[in-house]
Amino acid sequence: QCAIDPKSTVTDACTSYSNLDSLNRAIRPILDDLTQADFFAYYRLNLYNKVCPFWNDENSICGNRACAVDTIEDEGDIPPIWRAEELSKLEGARAQHPGPKQRKERPEQRPLQYQLGQNVDESCVFEADDECDERDYCVPEDEGAATKGDYVSLVNNTERFTGYAGPGARQVWDAIYKENCFSKSATASIPAQTGRHASKELKNIFQEYGRQHVESKDDYSLNDQCIEQRAFYRIISGMHASISTHLCWDYFNQSSGEWFKNLECYKERLHNYPDRISNLYFNYALVTRAIAKLDKSLQSYTFCSGDPAQDFETKQKVARLTSELASIPSTFDESIMFQDPSMIDLKDDFKQRFRNVSRIMDCVGCDKCRLWGKLQTAGYGAALKVLFEFDEQNAADNPSLRRTELVALINTFGRLSHSMKAIGDFRSMVAVSEGSK
Ligand code: FAD
Repeated sequence: QCAIDPKSTVTDACTSYSNLDSLNRAIRPILDDLTQADFFAYYRLNLYNKVCPFWNDENSICGNRACAVDTIEDEGDIPPIWRAEELSKLEGARAQHPGPKQRKERPEQRPLQYQLGQNVDESCVFEADDECDERDYCVPEDEGAATKGDYVSLVNNTERFTGYAGPGARQVWDAIYKENCFSKSATASIPAQTGRHASKELKNIFQEYGRQHVESKDDYSLNDQCIEQRAFYRIISGMHASISTHLCWDYFNQSSGEWFKNLECYKERLHNYPDRISNLYFNYALVTRAIAKLDKSLQSYTFCSGDPAQDFETKQKVARLTSELASIPSTFDESIMFQDPSMIDLKDDFKQRFRNVSRIMDCVGCDKCRLWGKLQTAGYGAALKVLFEFDEQNAADNPSLRRTELVALINTFGRLSHSMKAIGDFRSMVAVSEGSK
Protein backbone atom coordinates (compact mmCIF):
# COMPACT_ATOMS: atom_id res chain seq x y z
CA GLN A 1 0.00 0.00 0.00
CA CYS A 2 1.38 3.39 -0.81
CA ALA A 3 -0.25 6.75 -1.22
CA ILE A 4 -0.42 8.44 -4.58
CA ASP A 5 1.63 11.55 -4.25
CA PRO A 6 1.83 14.44 -6.67
CA LYS A 7 5.26 13.25 -7.85
CA SER A 8 3.89 10.01 -9.18
CA THR A 9 3.74 9.48 -12.90
CA VAL A 10 1.58 7.25 -15.04
CA THR A 11 4.09 4.46 -14.89
CA ASP A 12 4.82 4.61 -11.17
CA ALA A 13 4.26 1.24 -9.57
CA CYS A 14 3.20 3.19 -6.53
CA THR A 15 0.15 4.53 -8.34
CA SER A 16 -2.00 1.59 -7.50
CA TYR A 17 -5.04 1.83 -9.68
CA SER A 18 -6.41 -1.50 -8.61
CA ASN A 19 -6.44 -0.38 -4.96
CA LEU A 20 -8.49 2.64 -5.93
CA ASP A 21 -10.78 0.51 -8.08
CA SER A 22 -11.41 -1.83 -5.13
CA LEU A 23 -12.06 1.13 -2.86
CA ASN A 24 -14.46 2.55 -5.41
CA ARG A 25 -16.39 -0.71 -5.68
CA ALA A 26 -16.74 -0.79 -1.90
CA ILE A 27 -17.96 2.77 -1.41
CA ARG A 28 -20.02 3.33 -4.57
CA PRO A 29 -23.32 2.17 -3.08
CA ILE A 30 -22.93 4.53 -0.09
CA LEU A 31 -21.91 7.43 -2.31
CA ASP A 32 -24.72 6.84 -4.80
CA ASP A 33 -27.22 6.79 -1.99
CA LEU A 34 -25.74 9.92 -0.42
CA THR A 35 -25.85 12.02 -3.58
CA GLN A 36 -29.60 11.29 -3.81
CA ALA A 37 -30.28 12.72 -0.33
CA ASP A 38 -31.91 16.18 -0.40
CA PHE A 39 -28.96 17.80 1.34
CA PHE A 40 -26.60 16.76 -1.49
CA ALA A 41 -29.06 16.72 -4.38
CA TYR A 42 -29.86 20.45 -4.34
CA TYR A 43 -27.12 22.86 -5.27
CA ARG A 44 -27.40 26.61 -5.23
CA LEU A 45 -25.32 28.54 -7.71
CA ASN A 46 -25.26 31.59 -9.88
CA LEU A 47 -25.81 30.02 -13.22
CA TYR A 48 -27.15 32.90 -15.28
CA ASN A 49 -26.29 36.17 -13.59
CA LYS A 50 -22.55 36.26 -14.00
CA VAL A 51 -20.93 37.43 -17.20
CA CYS A 52 -17.74 35.92 -18.54
CA PRO A 53 -15.11 38.22 -17.03
CA PHE A 54 -12.48 37.47 -19.68
CA TRP A 55 -13.93 37.69 -23.16
CA ASN A 56 -17.15 38.28 -25.01
CA ASP A 57 -18.79 34.86 -25.16
CA GLU A 58 -22.02 35.87 -26.89
CA ASN A 59 -21.22 33.86 -29.99
CA SER A 60 -20.45 30.64 -28.21
CA ILE A 61 -23.77 30.04 -26.51
CA CYS A 62 -25.07 26.52 -26.92
CA GLY A 63 -28.70 26.52 -28.04
CA ASN A 64 -29.28 22.74 -27.90
CA ARG A 65 -32.05 21.54 -25.62
CA ALA A 66 -29.50 19.21 -24.01
CA CYS A 67 -27.46 22.24 -22.90
CA ALA A 68 -30.35 23.63 -20.86
CA VAL A 69 -30.71 23.25 -17.12
CA ASP A 70 -34.04 22.84 -15.38
CA THR A 71 -33.82 25.17 -12.43
CA ILE A 72 -36.30 24.95 -9.60
CA GLU A 73 -38.87 27.65 -10.18
CA ASP A 74 -41.27 26.59 -7.49
CA GLU A 75 -39.79 27.13 -4.04
CA GLY A 76 -42.20 24.48 -2.78
CA ASP A 77 -39.86 21.87 -4.28
CA ILE A 78 -36.93 22.96 -2.14
CA PRO A 79 -36.62 21.80 1.46
CA PRO A 80 -38.24 24.62 3.50
CA ILE A 81 -35.12 25.58 5.42
CA TRP A 82 -33.33 26.67 2.23
CA ARG A 83 -36.14 28.77 0.80
CA ALA A 84 -35.41 32.47 0.41
CA GLU A 85 -37.83 33.35 3.16
CA GLU A 86 -36.15 31.02 5.65
CA LEU A 87 -32.69 32.09 4.59
CA SER A 88 -33.49 35.71 5.17
CA LYS A 89 -34.64 34.76 8.66
CA LEU A 90 -31.33 33.07 9.26
CA GLU A 91 -29.50 36.25 8.32
CA GLY A 92 -30.91 37.94 11.39
CA ALA A 93 -28.61 39.35 14.04
CA ARG A 94 -28.37 36.24 16.15
CA ALA A 95 -27.48 33.98 13.31
CA GLN A 96 -25.27 36.31 11.33
CA HIS A 97 -22.30 34.64 9.83
CA PRO A 98 -19.04 35.61 11.49
CA GLY A 99 -16.72 37.55 9.17
CA PRO A 100 -13.07 36.48 8.70
CA LYS A 101 -11.91 38.65 11.61
CA GLN A 102 -14.52 37.32 13.99
CA ARG A 103 -13.94 33.78 12.80
CA LYS A 104 -10.32 34.03 13.90
CA GLU A 105 -11.40 34.89 17.41
CA ARG A 106 -12.37 32.05 19.69
CA PRO A 107 -16.17 31.64 19.78
CA GLU A 108 -16.55 32.91 23.32
CA GLN A 109 -14.63 36.09 22.45
CA ARG A 110 -16.87 36.97 19.53
CA PRO A 111 -19.35 39.80 19.91
CA LEU A 112 -22.77 38.48 20.81
CA GLN A 113 -24.29 39.11 17.40
CA TYR A 114 -21.77 36.75 15.84
CA GLN A 115 -22.56 33.87 18.14
CA LEU A 116 -24.97 31.46 16.62
CA GLY A 117 -28.47 31.28 17.96
CA GLN A 118 -29.33 28.26 20.08
CA ASN A 119 -31.43 26.59 17.46
CA VAL A 120 -29.40 27.63 14.46
CA ASP A 121 -26.39 25.65 13.51
CA GLU A 122 -23.57 27.07 11.43
CA SER A 123 -24.17 24.78 8.50
CA CYS A 124 -27.67 26.22 8.19
CA VAL A 125 -26.33 29.75 8.16
CA PHE A 126 -23.48 29.32 5.69
CA GLU A 127 -25.98 29.08 2.89
CA ALA A 128 -26.40 32.84 2.93
CA ASP A 129 -22.70 33.57 3.08
CA ASP A 130 -21.02 35.42 0.25
CA GLU A 131 -17.74 36.28 1.83
CA CYS A 132 -14.46 35.18 0.39
CA ASP A 133 -11.99 33.80 2.92
CA GLU A 134 -8.33 34.22 2.03
CA ARG A 135 -8.00 30.46 2.48
CA ASP A 136 -10.55 29.71 -0.27
CA TYR A 137 -9.37 28.11 -3.53
CA CYS A 138 -12.56 29.01 -5.32
CA VAL A 139 -14.56 32.14 -5.89
CA PRO A 140 -17.72 31.87 -3.79
CA GLU A 141 -20.73 31.46 -6.00
CA ASP A 142 -22.25 34.74 -4.86
CA GLU A 143 -19.28 36.96 -5.58
CA GLY A 144 -20.10 39.89 -7.82
CA ALA A 145 -23.58 38.58 -8.56
CA ALA A 146 -26.79 40.52 -8.32
CA THR A 147 -28.70 37.61 -6.82
CA LYS A 148 -27.96 34.68 -4.59
CA GLY A 149 -28.47 32.24 -7.42
CA ASP A 150 -30.76 29.42 -8.38
CA TYR A 151 -31.43 26.05 -6.87
CA VAL A 152 -30.78 23.17 -9.18
CA SER A 153 -31.53 19.53 -8.68
CA LEU A 154 -28.33 17.69 -9.57
CA VAL A 155 -30.26 14.46 -9.75
CA ASN A 156 -32.56 15.82 -12.46
CA ASN A 157 -29.81 17.51 -14.50
CA THR A 158 -27.38 14.69 -15.15
CA GLU A 159 -23.98 15.37 -16.61
CA ARG A 160 -23.93 13.92 -20.12
CA PHE A 161 -23.51 14.73 -23.81
CA THR A 162 -24.90 18.14 -24.70
CA GLY A 163 -23.38 18.86 -28.11
CA TYR A 164 -21.44 21.84 -26.76
CA ALA A 165 -18.25 21.91 -28.85
CA GLY A 166 -16.32 24.03 -31.32
CA PRO A 167 -14.29 27.23 -30.81
CA GLY A 168 -16.27 28.34 -27.74
CA ALA A 169 -15.59 25.13 -25.78
CA ARG A 170 -12.03 25.04 -27.07
CA GLN A 171 -11.37 28.59 -25.89
CA VAL A 172 -12.53 27.70 -22.39
CA TRP A 173 -10.32 24.62 -22.14
CA ASP A 174 -7.36 26.55 -23.54
CA ALA A 175 -7.83 29.31 -20.99
CA ILE A 176 -8.09 26.77 -18.17
CA TYR A 177 -4.89 24.98 -19.21
CA LYS A 178 -3.07 28.27 -19.61
CA GLU A 179 -3.62 28.88 -15.90
CA ASN A 180 -1.09 26.09 -15.48
CA CYS A 181 1.72 28.12 -17.01
CA PHE A 182 3.16 29.13 -13.67
CA SER A 183 6.66 30.02 -14.56
CA LYS A 184 6.60 30.61 -18.28
CA SER A 185 7.26 34.02 -19.80
CA ALA A 186 4.79 36.81 -19.13
CA THR A 187 3.21 36.47 -22.56
CA ALA A 188 2.49 32.82 -21.99
CA SER A 189 1.08 33.12 -18.54
CA ILE A 190 -2.07 34.74 -17.34
CA PRO A 191 -1.47 36.82 -14.22
CA ALA A 192 -3.31 35.52 -11.21
CA GLN A 193 -6.32 37.71 -10.73
CA THR A 194 -6.66 39.12 -7.27
CA GLY A 195 -9.55 41.54 -7.63
CA ARG A 196 -13.18 40.77 -8.16
CA HIS A 197 -13.26 41.60 -11.84
CA ALA A 198 -10.83 40.90 -14.59
CA SER A 199 -8.63 43.83 -15.41
CA LYS A 200 -8.68 45.23 -18.95
CA GLU A 201 -5.20 43.86 -19.42
CA LEU A 202 -6.37 40.40 -18.45
CA LYS A 203 -9.30 40.59 -20.85
CA ASN A 204 -6.94 41.52 -23.66
CA ILE A 205 -4.71 38.59 -22.90
CA PHE A 206 -7.65 36.22 -23.04
CA GLN A 207 -8.94 37.71 -26.26
CA GLU A 208 -5.51 37.24 -27.72
CA TYR A 209 -5.52 33.62 -26.58
CA GLY A 210 -8.91 33.15 -28.15
CA ARG A 211 -7.39 33.87 -31.54
CA GLN A 212 -4.67 31.29 -31.10
CA HIS A 213 -5.38 27.68 -31.81
CA VAL A 214 -3.64 25.44 -29.38
CA GLU A 215 -2.95 22.12 -31.07
CA SER A 216 -1.71 20.23 -28.12
CA LYS A 217 -1.78 20.49 -24.39
CA ASP A 218 1.83 19.26 -24.47
CA ASP A 219 2.67 22.95 -24.15
CA TYR A 220 1.64 22.53 -20.56
CA SER A 221 3.39 19.21 -20.07
CA LEU A 222 4.70 18.04 -16.73
CA ASN A 223 8.36 18.29 -17.64
CA ASP A 224 10.43 20.72 -15.60
CA GLN A 225 7.59 21.47 -13.25
CA CYS A 226 7.69 21.28 -9.49
CA ILE A 227 5.27 18.91 -7.79
CA GLU A 228 2.78 21.65 -6.97
CA GLN A 229 2.54 22.67 -10.62
CA ARG A 230 2.23 19.06 -11.67
CA ALA A 231 -0.60 18.64 -9.19
CA PHE A 232 -2.38 21.69 -10.61
CA TYR A 233 -2.13 20.31 -14.15
CA ARG A 234 -3.28 16.85 -13.08
CA ILE A 235 -6.34 18.22 -11.30
CA ILE A 236 -7.45 20.08 -14.42
CA SER A 237 -6.66 17.26 -16.79
CA GLY A 238 -8.36 14.74 -14.47
CA MET A 239 -11.47 16.92 -14.31
CA HIS A 240 -11.45 17.23 -18.11
CA ALA A 241 -11.09 13.43 -18.39
CA SER A 242 -14.04 12.90 -16.06
CA ILE A 243 -16.23 15.29 -18.08
CA SER A 244 -15.20 13.51 -21.31
CA THR A 245 -16.03 10.14 -19.74
CA HIS A 246 -19.53 11.26 -18.87
CA LEU A 247 -20.29 12.70 -22.24
CA CYS A 248 -19.08 9.51 -23.96
CA TRP A 249 -20.98 7.31 -21.50
CA ASP A 250 -24.26 9.12 -22.06
CA TYR A 251 -23.97 10.15 -25.70
CA PHE A 252 -26.81 11.26 -27.96
CA ASN A 253 -27.25 9.96 -31.47
CA GLN A 254 -28.90 12.84 -33.27
CA SER A 255 -30.14 10.71 -36.18
CA SER A 256 -31.75 7.93 -34.15
CA GLY A 257 -32.67 10.14 -31.18
CA GLU A 258 -31.19 7.59 -28.78
CA TRP A 259 -28.81 7.88 -25.87
CA PHE A 260 -26.02 5.31 -25.94
CA LYS A 261 -22.52 4.44 -24.67
CA ASN A 262 -20.19 5.77 -27.34
CA LEU A 263 -17.14 3.51 -27.43
CA GLU A 264 -15.44 5.42 -30.24
CA CYS A 265 -15.78 8.63 -28.24
CA TYR A 266 -14.13 6.89 -25.27
CA LYS A 267 -11.29 5.54 -27.41
CA GLU A 268 -10.61 8.91 -29.04
CA ARG A 269 -10.68 10.96 -25.88
CA LEU A 270 -9.48 8.61 -23.16
CA HIS A 271 -8.40 5.09 -24.04
CA ASN A 272 -5.58 6.30 -26.26
CA TYR A 273 -4.42 8.74 -23.57
CA PRO A 274 -3.52 6.75 -20.43
CA ASP A 275 -2.10 9.91 -18.85
CA ARG A 276 -5.59 11.47 -18.84
CA ILE A 277 -7.03 8.40 -17.14
CA SER A 278 -4.14 8.47 -14.69
CA ASN A 279 -4.99 12.07 -13.86
CA LEU A 280 -8.58 11.11 -13.18
CA TYR A 281 -7.35 8.48 -10.69
CA PHE A 282 -5.06 11.11 -9.22
CA ASN A 283 -8.11 13.29 -8.56
CA TYR A 284 -9.95 10.37 -7.01
CA ALA A 285 -7.03 9.81 -4.63
CA LEU A 286 -6.86 13.53 -3.80
CA VAL A 287 -10.59 13.90 -3.09
CA THR A 288 -10.64 10.64 -1.12
CA ARG A 289 -7.95 12.01 1.18
CA ALA A 290 -9.78 15.33 1.60
CA ILE A 291 -13.05 13.62 2.59
CA ALA A 292 -11.21 11.24 4.93
CA LYS A 293 -9.65 14.27 6.58
CA LEU A 294 -13.13 15.65 7.30
CA ASP A 295 -14.20 12.48 9.12
CA LYS A 296 -13.97 13.99 12.62
CA SER A 297 -15.25 17.48 11.86
CA LEU A 298 -18.31 16.18 10.02
CA GLN A 299 -19.35 14.29 13.13
CA SER A 300 -20.44 17.61 14.64
CA TYR A 301 -21.89 19.03 11.41
CA THR A 302 -25.61 19.72 11.27
CA PHE A 303 -27.29 18.63 8.07
CA CYS A 304 -30.30 20.87 8.03
CA SER A 305 -32.99 20.16 5.49
CA GLY A 306 -35.75 20.91 7.96
CA ASP A 307 -36.70 17.24 8.29
CA PRO A 308 -34.96 15.88 11.41
CA ALA A 309 -35.48 12.22 10.45
CA GLN A 310 -33.95 12.78 7.02
CA ASP A 311 -31.12 14.85 8.50
CA PHE A 312 -30.32 12.05 10.94
CA GLU A 313 -30.18 9.59 8.06
CA THR A 314 -27.96 11.90 5.97
CA LYS A 315 -25.59 12.27 8.88
CA GLN A 316 -25.39 8.48 9.31
CA LYS A 317 -24.64 8.03 5.60
CA VAL A 318 -21.95 10.70 5.62
CA ALA A 319 -20.38 9.10 8.69
CA ARG A 320 -20.36 5.71 6.94
CA LEU A 321 -18.58 7.21 3.95
CA THR A 322 -16.03 9.29 5.83
CA SER A 323 -15.19 6.60 8.36
CA GLU A 324 -14.70 4.09 5.54
CA LEU A 325 -12.31 6.49 3.78
CA ALA A 326 -10.51 7.39 7.01
CA SER A 327 -9.96 3.72 7.84
CA ILE A 328 -7.77 3.01 4.78
CA PRO A 329 -4.13 4.02 4.38
CA SER A 330 -3.90 7.59 3.14
CA THR A 331 -4.37 7.81 -0.62
CA PHE A 332 -2.69 11.19 -1.11
CA ASP A 333 0.25 12.76 0.64
CA GLU A 334 -0.40 16.48 0.81
CA SER A 335 2.29 16.99 3.45
CA ILE A 336 5.04 17.06 0.83
CA MET A 337 3.53 20.03 -0.97
CA PHE A 338 4.28 23.68 -0.20
CA GLN A 339 6.90 22.60 2.35
CA ASP A 340 9.80 24.68 1.16
CA PRO A 341 9.61 28.11 2.87
CA SER A 342 10.49 29.68 -0.48
CA MET A 343 7.25 28.20 -1.78
CA ILE A 344 4.94 30.51 0.16
CA ASP A 345 4.41 32.68 -2.90
CA LEU A 346 3.81 29.63 -5.01
CA LYS A 347 0.98 28.54 -2.72
CA ASP A 348 -0.66 31.91 -3.12
CA ASP A 349 -0.15 31.76 -6.87
CA PHE A 350 -1.62 28.25 -6.95
CA LYS A 351 -4.68 29.48 -5.03
CA GLN A 352 -5.18 32.53 -7.24
CA ARG A 353 -4.86 30.45 -10.37
CA PHE A 354 -7.39 27.97 -9.12
CA ARG A 355 -9.73 30.84 -8.37
CA ASN A 356 -9.21 32.02 -11.94
CA VAL A 357 -10.24 28.58 -13.18
CA SER A 358 -13.46 28.94 -11.21
CA ARG A 359 -14.02 32.35 -12.83
CA ILE A 360 -13.38 30.94 -16.31
CA MET A 361 -16.32 28.60 -15.74
CA ASP A 362 -18.60 31.61 -16.21
CA CYS A 363 -17.43 31.62 -19.85
CA VAL A 364 -18.86 28.16 -20.59
CA GLY A 365 -21.60 28.71 -23.16
CA CYS A 366 -23.73 25.68 -22.28
CA ASP A 367 -25.81 25.91 -19.12
CA LYS A 368 -25.57 22.27 -18.16
CA CYS A 369 -21.83 22.13 -18.83
CA ARG A 370 -21.43 25.33 -16.81
CA LEU A 371 -23.42 23.83 -13.94
CA TRP A 372 -21.22 20.74 -13.72
CA GLY A 373 -18.04 22.67 -14.52
CA LYS A 374 -18.75 25.11 -11.71
CA LEU A 375 -19.75 22.37 -9.30
CA GLN A 376 -16.64 20.31 -9.96
CA THR A 377 -14.30 23.30 -9.75
CA ALA A 378 -15.93 24.18 -6.44
CA GLY A 379 -15.52 20.54 -5.36
CA TYR A 380 -11.79 20.53 -6.12
CA GLY A 381 -11.48 23.97 -4.52
CA ALA A 382 -13.07 22.57 -1.35
CA ALA A 383 -10.78 19.53 -1.47
CA LEU A 384 -7.68 21.74 -1.79
CA LYS A 385 -8.88 23.93 1.05
CA VAL A 386 -9.29 20.88 3.28
CA LEU A 387 -5.93 19.42 2.25
CA PHE A 388 -3.86 22.57 2.63
CA GLU A 389 -5.74 24.76 5.10
CA PHE A 390 -7.25 22.28 7.55
CA ASP A 391 -5.38 21.11 10.59
CA GLU A 392 -6.73 17.78 11.84
CA GLN A 393 -5.19 18.32 15.28
CA ASN A 394 -6.30 21.89 15.82
CA ALA A 395 -9.80 22.10 14.40
CA ALA A 396 -10.63 25.41 16.14
CA ASP A 397 -8.58 27.39 13.61
CA ASN A 398 -9.87 25.64 10.53
CA PRO A 399 -11.69 27.73 7.95
CA SER A 400 -15.40 27.15 7.58
CA LEU A 401 -16.83 24.90 4.93
CA ARG A 402 -20.02 26.28 3.39
CA ARG A 403 -22.89 23.98 2.59
CA THR A 404 -22.30 24.60 -1.13
CA GLU A 405 -18.65 23.54 -0.72
CA LEU A 406 -19.57 20.32 1.04
CA VAL A 407 -22.27 19.54 -1.54
CA ALA A 408 -19.79 20.25 -4.35
CA LEU A 409 -17.09 18.10 -2.72
CA ILE A 410 -19.32 15.05 -2.30
CA ASN A 411 -20.83 15.36 -5.77
CA THR A 412 -17.40 15.81 -7.35
CA PHE A 413 -16.37 12.60 -5.63
CA GLY A 414 -19.57 11.02 -6.95
CA ARG A 415 -18.68 12.11 -10.50
CA LEU A 416 -15.15 10.68 -10.22
CA SER A 417 -16.48 7.47 -8.79
CA HIS A 418 -18.94 7.14 -11.66
CA SER A 419 -16.19 7.92 -14.20
CA MET A 420 -13.98 5.16 -12.81
CA LYS A 421 -16.81 2.67 -13.06
CA ALA A 422 -17.62 3.83 -16.60
CA ILE A 423 -13.95 3.57 -17.67
CA GLY A 424 -13.84 -0.01 -16.31
CA ASP A 425 -16.94 -0.86 -18.35
CA PHE A 426 -15.59 0.87 -21.45
CA ARG A 427 -12.36 -1.12 -21.07
CA SER A 428 -14.36 -4.34 -21.05
CA MET A 429 -16.21 -3.18 -24.16
CA VAL A 430 -12.88 -2.48 -25.89
CA ALA A 431 -11.64 -5.96 -24.94
CA VAL A 432 -14.81 -7.56 -26.35
CA SER A 433 -14.67 -5.51 -29.56
CA GLU A 434 -10.98 -6.34 -30.08
CA GLY A 435 -11.56 -10.02 -29.26
CA SER A 436 -14.27 -10.27 -31.88
CA LYS A 437 -12.04 -8.86 -34.66
P1 FAD B 1 -11.97 18.87 -25.94
O1 FAD B 1 -12.51 17.95 -24.88
O2 FAD B 1 -12.63 20.19 -26.11
O3 FAD B 1 -10.44 19.08 -25.62
C1 FAD B 1 -9.67 20.12 -26.25
C2 FAD B 1 -8.22 19.67 -26.32
O4 FAD B 1 -7.74 19.46 -24.99
C3 FAD B 1 -8.02 18.32 -27.01
O5 FAD B 1 -7.85 18.48 -28.38
C4 FAD B 1 -6.77 17.79 -26.36
O6 FAD B 1 -5.59 18.34 -26.94
C5 FAD B 1 -6.86 18.33 -24.95
N1 FAD B 1 -7.40 17.39 -23.96
C6 FAD B 1 -8.56 16.71 -24.01
N2 FAD B 1 -8.75 16.02 -22.89
C7 FAD B 1 -7.68 16.26 -22.10
C8 FAD B 1 -7.31 15.82 -20.81
N3 FAD B 1 -8.09 15.03 -20.08
N4 FAD B 1 -6.14 16.26 -20.31
C9 FAD B 1 -5.33 17.08 -21.03
N5 FAD B 1 -5.64 17.54 -22.25
C10 FAD B 1 -6.80 17.13 -22.78
N6 FAD B 1 -19.76 18.64 -23.44
C11 FAD B 1 -20.79 17.78 -23.21
O7 FAD B 1 -21.29 17.15 -24.14
N7 FAD B 1 -21.28 17.61 -21.93
C12 FAD B 1 -20.77 18.27 -20.86
O8 FAD B 1 -21.25 18.12 -19.73
C13 FAD B 1 -19.69 19.17 -21.09
N8 FAD B 1 -19.14 19.87 -20.07
C14 FAD B 1 -18.15 20.78 -20.33
C15 FAD B 1 -17.63 21.51 -19.28
C16 FAD B 1 -16.65 22.46 -19.52
C17 FAD B 1 -16.09 23.25 -18.37
C18 FAD B 1 -16.18 22.68 -20.86
C19 FAD B 1 -15.15 23.73 -21.13
C20 FAD B 1 -16.69 21.93 -21.90
C21 FAD B 1 -17.67 20.98 -21.64
N9 FAD B 1 -18.19 20.20 -22.68
C22 FAD B 1 -19.22 19.32 -22.42
C23 FAD B 1 -17.58 20.22 -24.00
C24 FAD B 1 -16.50 19.11 -24.11
O9 FAD B 1 -15.64 19.10 -22.98
C25 FAD B 1 -15.64 19.25 -25.33
O10 FAD B 1 -15.06 20.54 -25.36
C26 FAD B 1 -16.38 19.02 -26.65
O11 FAD B 1 -16.98 17.76 -26.63
C27 FAD B 1 -15.43 19.08 -27.86
O12 FAD B 1 -14.43 18.09 -27.71
P2 FAD B 1 -13.05 18.08 -28.47
O13 FAD B 1 -12.93 16.74 -29.12
O14 FAD B 1 -12.91 19.27 -29.33
O15 FAD B 1 -11.93 18.11 -27.31
